[in-house]
Amino acid sequence: MTMQIGDMRIDALIDGEAAIPRDGFYLGDPPPGDTEWKPFTKYLDPCTGQLINTIGSYLIRYDDKVVLHDAGMGPDPSLPPFTGGGLRSALWALDVSPLDITDIIYSHLHIDHIGWTSVGGKPYFPNATLRIDRRDWDHYSPADYQLEDWEIGITIPEQDLVSIRFAPALDRIELFEGSQELLPGIAAMEASGHTPGHSVLELNSRGERGLLIGDLVHSHGELMGGWDFAVSNQHEKAMEAIDRFRGLIYDEKLPFAAAHFPGMKWGRLVKNGTGSGIAYETI
Ligand SMILES: [Zn+2]
Repeated sequence: MTMQIGDMRIDALIDGEAAIPRDGFYLGDPPPGDTEWKPFTKYLDPCTGQLINTIGSYLIRYDDKVVLHDAGMGPDPSLPPFTGGGLRSALWALDVSPLDITDIIYSHLHIDHIGWTSVGGKPYFPNATLRIDRRDWDHYSPADYQLEDWEIGITIPEQDLVSIRFAPALDRIELFEGSQELLPGIAAMEASGHTPGHSVLELNSRGERGLLIGDLVHSHGELMGGWDFAVSNQHEKAMEAIDRFRGLIYDEKLPFAAAHFPGMKWGRLVKNGTGSGIAYETI
């Protein structure tokens, strides 16, 4: 779908998806069960009950800028639960060439966000500046990076490691850190916890604002209920960031889109009934 924020046109580019068992995705004593999931069951696959995480990028176009937020899973073979490869067709459907991309801003450096950075040892977006939080770069880019337990079974090191994926494009990287304006009207906002340098992107044009929240959360229930994602790098920080952005989105009535909500739909948080509850609705 297309979202307009002031002069910015934002299109979701679906690259693939990850279908993941609902149980085991979140911690807790007890973890979220049928009662907690009930408001969100429509987002689970009707046949398998799996949680569907769409994978892709957001394309932001304004003035002379053609910006990608994240770079999908990529066309290389991937291990379950990941699939990718749709992004280039999604770009061409909008008549955008990979050569047109001026900037890629990474929410963080997990494999499902960096896949199109290079293909076959060449930068896929050769004219783009790659903007990465320094803390994620320092954590994930060393050649001797040791995969965490949960990454081992889903990662093909010889293609997926940050040190390999970014090697053909090292001269195009610009590092930032925390909350910082990256381009006119586009600012990173500190949202670490999921990874050491995870960020939310604020889009601001002609007095209108919206947020691309990346992997702040991976499901609607995680956003509304503050569920504890099983593989956060720093759990307390991640959950604090969820609380902070839930409040900001609701208080300031901001439209937002997550990296992995099914279909990469935009939504907002609205008052739920007469109590103090908050509900999610798609736009
Ligand atoms: Zn992700």
